[in-house]
Amino acid sequence: MHNHTLIRKAKAVVTCDAADHILHDVDIRIEEGKITRIGAGLDPIGCEIIDASHSFVYPGLINTHHHFFQTFVRNLMSIDYPNMLVVEWLDRIYRVFKEIDSDVIYHSSLTAMADLVKHGCTCAFDHQYCYTKKTGTSPVDRQMEAAGTIGLRYHAGRGCNTLPRSQGSTIPDEMLETTDAFLADCERLIDAYHEPDPFGMHRIVVAPCQPINSHPHTFIESAAFARDKHVRLHTHLGEGENPIMKARHGKRTLAWCEEIGFVGPDVWFAHAWELDAQEHAVLAATGSGVSHCPAPATLGGFPILDIPGMLEKSVPLSLGCDGSATNDSSNLLDSLRMAYLMQAFHGKSRNRVPSPYEMLKIATVGGAQALGRSELGSLEVGKAADLFFVDVDMLELCGTLHDPANLIARAGVCGPVERTIVAGKTVWEHGRFPTLDERELAREGNRICTERMAPHFPL
Ligand SMILES: [Zn+2]
Repeated sequence: MHNHTLIRKAKAVVTCDAADHILHDVDIRIEEGKITRIGAGLDPIGCEIIDASHSFVYPGLINTHHHFFQTFVRNLMSIDYPNMLVVEWLDRIYRVFKEIDSDVIYHSSLTAMADLVKHGCTCAFDHQYCYTKKTGTSPVDRQMEAAGTIGLRYHAGRGCNTLPRSQGSTIPDEMLETTDAFLADCERLIDAYHEPDPFGMHRIVVAPCQPINSHPHTFIESAAFARDKHVRLHTHLGEGENPIMKARHGKRTLAWCEEIGFVGPDVWFAHAWELDAQEHAVLAATGSGVSHCPAPATLGGFPILDIPGMLEKSVPLSLGCDGSATNDSSNLLDSLRMAYLMQAFHGKSRNRVPSPYEMLKIATVGGAQALGRSELGSLEVGKAADLFFVDVDMLELCGTLHDPANLIARAGVCGPVERTIVAGKTVWEHGRFPTLDERELAREGNRICTERMAPHFPL
């Protein structure tokens, strides 16, 4: 019986530490889910040995925005996101969302989490705002169950919508909740799952879905509640809703969030595509973070973030897949390369393109900052053993190996990674989940999708 793990002779370790160290031919010793030593020729006694002599090792990617429940509403051309405004899309897609039940939540979450883990993600936040008559308050409980099955480090955003359609929202009435019921369930979930200590596997985030689809007091009370409980806050911002906010409140969304106190180092926003340079300065001054999701930005035709400009101002930036209905995958490696290519395309004329390695750091160190997890995001002694391997003895990677730091975002890794380790445990290796029957789970998920969701898809 081995108590510890030794990753032996890694061909390269891209640490993503503050000094941007790239180490070669080193061992990594892991004890109790943490990295305890990094160096050449470490003592292997008492350790399970993992050979990494043909592998590049990276810190696990951190996904800071997603909607797992949308995974069974993918590839649906009858509600085609690129061909409509986001508010129109919301109006139509919610009619399908209201058919989601508790089993759909479990299997769609499991599917998304498996895709993430296969592609090097070790810690994910999900923004769960789909509460129907059929799910009741079960979704986060079912997601925690799925995270335990896959072995992913998981932050659940408990979302909500409180504003009726009659008052201008896009939400079917049967999917509305009251602010009191929402906050009561947040409290229940925090008591049941939130692990505030460093290295915890599960956390809860208070995350009303978006300002246009809730009463203002939902956001005001959420901010007060989250601060009282010392948990983080999240919502959508700058994705086409500004004209509605101006008509309702006389100001853009970020100014409204600032006015009600929904900004700060404990807050991060999904998207921020439509924010201007002055608003970037507000994000930087308040320490509010952004989750950049390149796939829906592209499919929705949104402005491309000026990442070098935002980094210059020290806006905390991280990376997300976003909902599976606007991506339509949960492959964060793919989103990382897409984010880099978009920056190259749009940055060329501005004469400032971030390096692929800078984009990798947004997906690792940046993600850790967004989630308030300074013990994640880099490979250093004392940090969590959350990491992934890329087997570099592969023909498609020949000729790229001279620069491990830039490889992931520039050349890209197509297909699953070699191995993913979360909290010191291997959760994916050599094409299989060590504790799961993947084919059986895929068949069961497809059966549930076909039975429960497909009959409600518009033609
Ligand atoms: Zn989203």
